[in-house]
Amino acid sequence: MADQVDDANELAELELQARLSKARRVSKSHQRAVSHCLNCQELLTEKGTRYCDSDCREDHEKRVKHHAATWAGR
Ligand SMILES: [Zn+2]
Repeated sequence: MADQVDDANELAELELQARLSKARRVSKSHQRAVSHCLNCQELLTEKGTRYCDSDCREDHEKRVKHHAATWAGR
């Protein structure tokens, strides 16, 4: 996987895409979904988008990190 700098860039990119995706979804709700939000399973219409918004991204990543820390501690 990518290093930390690339991760930060990817997160910024994801957040931007999520915002754009949400804005577009309002006007193009009939658009075909290409994926689901990893956090709430909401349909996403933007390719490469993994979350419906930045709140979902933060929430999901928090839980992923929590699980990773839990597993590492075993
Ligand atoms: Zn979501």
